Amino acid sequence: MSAMPRRRFLQSAAVTFAGGAIYQRAQGAPLLPLAELRAQGAVVVSTWPFGQPANEKALKVLQAGGAGLDAIEQGINVTESDAGNPSVGLGGIPNADGVVQLDACIMSGPGHRAGSVGALSGFPHPISVARRIMETTRHVMLVGDGAAKFATEQGFARGPELTAGQRDGWEKWRREQAARPAPAKAATGGAAAKPDNHDTIAMVLLAPDGHLYGGCSTSGWGYKLAGRVGDSPILGSGLYVDDDIGAAGATGIGENVMRYCGSFLVVEYMRQGLHPQEACLETIRRIAKKDPKGFDLSINFVALDKKGRFGAAGTGSGFEYSVTCGKFSRVLQSPGLTSSKVGPIGGNRK
Ligand code: ASP
Repeated sequence: MSAMPRRRFLQSAAVTFAGGAIYQRAQGAPLLPLAELRAQGAVVVSTWPFGQPANEKALKVLQAGGAGLDAIEQGINVTESDAGNPSVGLGGIPNADGVVQLDACIMSGPGHRAGSVGALSGFPHPISVARRIMETTRHVMLVGDGAAKFATEQGFARGPELTAGQRDGWEKWRREQAARPAPAKAATGGAAAKPDNHDTIAMVLLAPDGHLYGGCSTSGWGYKLAGRVGDSPILGSGLYVDDDIGAAGATGIGENVMRYCGSFLVVEYMRQGLHPQEACLETIRRIAKKDPKGFDLSINFVALDKKGRFGAAGTGSGFEYSVTCGKFSRVLQSPGLTSSKVGPIGGNRK
């Protein structure tokens, strides 16, 4: 994605819906009064263009009277079921041992409840397993063999084995690894992160009942070391929901999000009065200020507040995210931050 000049971004973010009923601006403008939002059904925001069909499914669930958690789960199930998606679900890129290991979590604003699963292999819908952990156990997170045992005991169906394409890709990667000089192998362990070997669906929504919910699901970083767990299932890192304030989710290199509790930080900035868009930007500025790599981090956030205002931001040229509300369903470009394009620090607090 090429960098987008700020003026063009503002145009693309200032979307309007027939009759001017729905609008969103990058800076501070309220989206809709809550009553009107409720009449529209809900607002669903997720990472990447592949989030759009998931958003639309989530909205349908809500419009049919479904609960917020059903909308999150069934929406994310759409992405997890897409065998062509190389970064979510069992169609994802395997780890260094040739096994697809999935991470997911779900969070309910009401009750501040959460469930999470890490390094789960063999099951196509980790978001559903995460929800079951939340609803039926005393725990928040299960990982690895224990998570798979739980999923089996709970009657979750196992998914397909690796396809020939996934196996070929993994074998090619292994051959390339074997040909590398020894010091380079030792330094990296698994594969280097590249723009095309990791992504996540992180979805946050404001339901017609006025409550916030979120979830995320990923196969993580392609050819990662076996047992590596990223930011996505870590509450506060890949996802965070505070029903009084807002919800946020992340995508990008998890190691650069989880060291900073990125999604929690976005929500905390919204608590301080920042618009969701500014909260995402400010989180990235704060992380980049501390991190030795500065803005060279490949991290991105989406955020939604209790009023239905939404936003997103990423490092570099930013990233595309999906927003669905009433009859409006669009993929938008987030702003991006680099060391030469930091923007005003501090944001516009209410
Ligand atoms: N955050 C995910 C991970 O590190 C990958 C991504 O969203 O790009 O596992």
